[in-house]
Amino acid sequence: MQADPTDQQRLLDLAAEDVALTQLAHRRRTLPEEAAVETAAEAERTFAVEVVRTETDVRDLDREQTRLEADVETVRQREDRDQKLIDSSSTSAKDITGLQHELESLKRRQGDLEDQVLELMERREVAEAALQASRDGQQQAAADLERATQQRDDALADIADGTARHESVRAEIAAQLPAPLLALYDRIRTQNGATGAALLKARQCQGCRIELFGKELAAVRSADPSEVVRCDNCGRILVRTAESGL
Ligand SMILES: [Zn+2]
Repeated sequence: MQADPTDQQRLLDLAAEDVALTQLAHRRRTLPEEAAVETAAEAERTFAVEVVRTETDVRDLDREQTRLEADVETVRQREDRDQKLIDSSSTSAKDITGLQHELESLKRRQGDLEDQVLELMERREVAEAALQASRDGQQQAAADLERATQQRDDALADIADGTARHESVRAEIAAQLPAPLLALYDRIRTQNGATGAALLKARQCQGCRIELFGKELAAVRSADPSEVVRCDNCGRILVRTAESGL
């Protein structure tokens, strides 16, 4: 293929745009901000589970406390009833002795229940603190997630801007190139997934970093400047300049 040496040199500008676009695409795929969003979302989910668990703990303890308080009340009512019977003039001495025994046993029971209520209140305090801590954690994690999402979105917007800018420059360069040369460049670029042309600098292909020698070097050396030459190793169009060392 023949192409004006100036057009061949323009391929380097095209390649520079393709390198920039590849870098932007890579940055988009490996965005650290994206990983930060995932980490924050994971923390938020963990705290949400913890909130549910600690809420259940507090609710269970509340239920237990209600039941204990009902027991305390039942015992108190029986004590009142027994005491009234003891105080009543119509109760026999024998019954009074029986009632006094029952009253003692009720008071022991009452004491046990009150101990249990106290112990339960302590456990509830601990559970309440754990619930508060998990709610605080969830709130913090939600704020972290929001911030990370904002930073990720900003980074994505930056990448989108850069991509649009480089695509526009690339389109301008491409529009000025002869169609067959551009088609060849694009075909090579599609094959290697990077660029279709590289500078030949000090006899080295800047695309694959292989230095030309022997027959290949002799062929490139003797080729007419308007001849499109390609790297035997990577297939890229070799753009010759004063730096080529030929
Ligand atoms: Zn090469």
